[in-house]
Amino acid sequence: MVLSDLCARLIRDVPDYPEPGVVFKDITPLLVNGPAFAAVIKHLADIARAAGGIDLVAGMEARGFIIGAPVATELGIGFVPVRKAGKLPGVTMEASYDLEYGSATVELLPDTIAPGSRVLIVDDVLATGGTAAATASLIEQAGGIVVGLAFLLELTFLPGRSRLAGRPVDVILSVD
Ligand code: 5GP
Repeated sequence: MVLSDLCARLIRDVPDYPEPGVVFKDITPLLVNGPAFAAVIKHLADIARAAGGIDLVAGMEARGFIIGAPVATELGIGFVPVRKAGKLPGVTMEASYDLEYGSATVELLPDTIAPGSRVLIVDDVLATGGTAAATASLIEQAGGIVVGLAFLLELTFLPGRSRLAGRPVDVILSVD
């Protein structure tokens, strides 16, 4: 079966989560399916191989850890955790972005990225693009080069891609 079709079958809609009116895309059925999860990781690693010369994979808390860390080990390279505010020890770098109500902040330990490192950002879902755009700017502040971004799922009814304009974006599955 084509990987995008397999993912579509294994991602379920959860209405009114985390708040009324939102349909959350739950990737848990995919994660517990060993062959499907492995195929997703291999596909994302192939994207990194095609981009060439990737030094690090960066993933965002929390599902970006689940997807990104195995991509890094598949490639034999390191993984950079990008965390929500207040979770990392010591001095951090941070980038904030707007939410519908309020704002959110992502953080990075500055010494995790050597200047000039080529970084692929991996996360499960591209929605409004706020998390991904903030993560990309954080990596660049730290001296890294964002080679591209790879997602399992893109919600095309939201403006994620336009917030990442000019950056290479790969997705396994797009839904509208
Ligand atoms: P954005 O910043 O693009 O609006 O939201 C993307 C971030 O929120 C990702 O880190 C992703 O894990 C999470 N996210 C937002 N909406 C969903 C969703 O429907 N399903 C899942 N699995 N994650 C989501």
